[in-house]
Amino acid sequence: MTLTVHQFACLSDNYGFLIRDEATGQAACIDTPDAEAILRELAGLGWTLTHILNTHWHPDHAGGNAAIKAATGCEVVGPAEVERIGAAPDRIVTDGDIVMLGETRLEVMDTGGHTLGHITYYDAADRMAFVGDTLFALGCGRLFEGTPQQMWTSLQRLAVLPEDVTVYCAHEYTAANARFALSVDADPALKARAEQIFAARKRGDWTVPTTIGLEKATNPFLRAPLLRPDIADPAEAFGAVRAAKDSFQG
Ligand code: ZN
Ligand code: FE
Repeated sequence: MTLTVHQFACLSDNYGFLIRDEATGQAACIDTPDAEAILRELAGLGWTLTHILNTHWHPDHAGGNAAIKAATGCEVVGPAEVERIGAAPDRIVTDGDIVMLGETRLEVMDTGGHTLGHITYYDAADRMAFVGDTLFALGCGRLFEGTPQQMWTSLQRLAVLPEDVTVYCAHEYTAANARFALSVDADPALKARAEQIFAARKRGDWTVPTTIGLEKATNPFLRAPLLRPDIADPAEAFGAVRAAKDSFQG
């Protein structure tokens, strides 16, 4: 139950993640933003890819499936909606399913809202979650297909995971997210984190991964009910903060 994660930047602001079960050497990529980059990283590591694990169907997450499958013969695992951009996954998974990567057990959690059929892969033993475009550092995915209620439910499912769970988000959006967060939340912990983020980005450092604890403390979307005490329903409070971000010019 030891999972190694290799993270790399690709496309304009995506992160690719290659993961390897150390007990057996089985390896997977979380999503396929850039087939060429993924195959190059794999070759550099000397890992043999056995699985693609898609979080959702968007082209910057599943667009490289066909090329990587052709090059490696790996099995494609993902939500049914992945079929929209080409082939259906070899194995369609939904909430509660378990994907074994060697001896590593990944639980599939439905975290829809950004798209329908958006899933998270959660490795409870190693305290890691691969959340795609559901939760970002100080942000969350746009609601392209789901409702505020669905996304709020998804975010709450992540928020109840242990605080030390490492959260691997699929994009480096953090500086822009921080500018928005500062516009709606005066909390000192957010201010301190935002300063660290701006400094890190100035140096060219990554701000991903994050943790559940850090996001619970500072992410304006998880803090939506506190930020909008005028709105009684938590999902509606979340929806209001999400709408404010969508129109934020910062
Ligand atoms: Zn997406
Ligand atoms: Fe994306």
